[in-house]
Amino acid sequence: GKTVAFRFDIDGVDVTESTDADHRPFKEGFRSDISGITHACGHDGHITMGLALAKLIAQSLDDFSGKFRFIFQTAEEGTRGAVGMEAAGVTKGVDYLLGGHIGFQATTMRGIICGTKKLLATTKFDVNLQGKSAHAAGAPQNGANALLAAAEMALDMHGITRHADGVTRINVGVLRAGEGRNVIAPNGYLACETRGESTELNEFMKAKCMDIVEGVSKIYGVSYDVQVTGGTAGGDSDEATTQLYEDAAKASPFIDDDKIVRELNFGACEDFAHFMRSVQDAGGKSGYLMIGTTLAAGHHNAKFDFDEDSLLAGVDVYLRCAYKLNGKI
Ligand SMILES: [Zn+2]
Ligand SMILES: [Zn+2]
Repeated sequence: GKTVAFRFDIDGVDVTESTDADHRPFKEGFRSDISGITHACGHDGHITMGLALAKLIAQSLDDFSGKFRFIFQTAEEGTRGAVGMEAAGVTKGVDYLLGGHIGFQATTMRGIICGTKKLLATTKFDVNLQGKSAHAAGAPQNGANALLAAAEMALDMHGITRHADGVTRINVGVLRAGEGRNVIAPNGYLACETRGESTELNEFMKAKCMDIVEGVSKIYGVSYDVQVTGGTAGGDSDEATTQLYEDAAKASPFIDDDKIVRELNFGACEDFAHFMRSVQDAGGKSGYLMIGTTLAAGHHNAKFDFDEDSLLAGVDVYLRCAYKLNGKI
């Protein structure tokens, strides 16, 4: 039999969950216990599906040949988890890697998007600037202004010429600098991210950012340190896996035929793409599906909440894929 891996991401998001009376998790007592962190992306649903699927397969081992591997992945948010786990060998020898997400573009109950395309590539990086403090009126010429350098970097990055080959994104999400009103700012910090429709397009954006950091640092006489904190390759679900998901969805009593979408572009990043790419490059098959659910509020919103019936559809599709790939019956 084959080695079939399922990947479920398990981390929360840096969001404080709502305490409004109309927020069901608060009303019914299953709101996050931890201030500032909650499952506002639905990964708690993914954990649930993974455990249910593992239980169902374990209960029926005589039905199967081959091997199953369950990858419960940390730190998907910020695309920090897959790179390390892949390096540790979790996708080694995998013939089929299956995974997905509840919600996103799949916004109807009993619906599914089988083959997700164009998972964006991304790089997350921090820039730390070291300038020199000086009296702002008495001797500004002796300072090296890290605040102005940081500000110019942020504007220049957002002004990078776009690439004709496809979609790119840039965001400087945090800028901190300075120590006092009458002091030339000796320090600066920027939290940045680039994205691209392909790995190559993301690399183009990242290289331009590095040029800006280097060039602007020279102008202001500051030194810099760049730390890459996360990232993932881009990727597409392949035909074989898309077909596998579609066949499973058509057979599932929890999904309606007229709500099956064969392919759709994701337009966001998911570090599943890093696993997917490594499996596909090694000759295996992999694809990413989206399981339909209605949402009380969007992903990463303080009032995020999904319809738990959607988990049944997800587990059923994965189980049908398991039988299709490794079932004896
Ligand atoms: Zn998320
Ligand atoms: Zn997510």
